[in-house]
Amino acid sequence: MSERDTHIVLPYAGLRLKRTSPLRDRDDWREVALGHPGMRLLPVWRGRNLVTADDGTTLRSVSAPHVHAHAAELILLGEIDDAPILAADLSSLHEEQAFDLAGDARFHDLRRIGPSLEPQDAALLSYARGMAHWHVTHRHCGRCGTEAENRKAGMQRSCSNGDCGGVSFPRIDPAIIVLVEDGGLHGDGVPRCLLGRAPGWPDGVYSTLAGFVEPGESLEEAVAREVREESNIGVRDVRYRASQPWPFPSSLMLGFRATARTLEIVRHDKELEDARWFTPDALREAGTWGDDSPVCLPRRDSIARFLIEDWLAEQD
Ligand SMILES: [Zn+2]
Repeated sequence: MSERDTHIVLPYAGLRLKRTSPLRDRDDWREVALGHPGMRLLPVWRGRNLVTADDGTTLRSVSAPHVHAHAAELILLGEIDDAPILAADLSSLHEEQAFDLAGDARFHDLRRIGPSLEPQDAALLSYARGMAHWHVTHRHCGRCGTEAENRKAGMQRSCSNGDCGGVSFPRIDPAIIVLVEDGGLHGDGVPRCLLGRAPGWPDGVYSTLAGFVEPGESLEEAVAREVREESNIGVRDVRYRASQPWPFPSSLMLGFRATARTLEIVRHDKELEDARWFTPDALREAGTWGDDSPVCLPRRDSIARFLIEDWLAEQD
């Protein structure tokens, strides 16, 4: 995680790629892009990205130009050093076909391997995965159900029914995530923050509270509602900290800090199986997602982890 100018760049963000391209408006963009000598084509098969480990340990993305003929969708992600970068959705292929095309490389779930990739590669594969997911889940027009067609080099889908004219654009789902601090309410001079755990997480993992923003709701209102529903804690002073694309499958995480107005935890919606106040010492002794410590912090590549470490860094 690094600070660039004044904003915080978290894993899966910070991609150095030019998203606009004059090719988007050309009917022959596929031929032109595929014919470019510096072109890279990143295959995605059922949510998995193609990667290889050259030296047996370091994973990196693989360009596989030969798969374009098998792609259900080709998507122009943008340009790096004037060379087109494409994603190809291969999800309609059977497992055997996809694996044959992969050669020595393998399709892996970014959710598993993300933390092992170099940050630019992780951000690029995240973008490819997110775009492929959008195309796979928006094959048909949301208005009339007719098949929708890939337009603008993959940045738009348009209904093929001329009487309808429905158009859709890549969709992301905004979700808030918040670290709630006690604001001194415990009264013993020891600061605390509120973390919870959801059923199904590895044993011991506690994380910041999160949830999707609902229609008709501001981000600050979503923060207050989610914290209330999951813990019964009231909050004040909701402050934005940072954001993170989270392509599992299509979220944009909007990270906040808030201060509690109350302390008593009641889990109304039972979305969490536990929620507690943690001292800085307890969190400094915690392990990390997947190890066998009694209390574990979230994955290293998550904004939840950033929000916790950001808070811890301010405590004595
Ligand atoms: Zn339609």
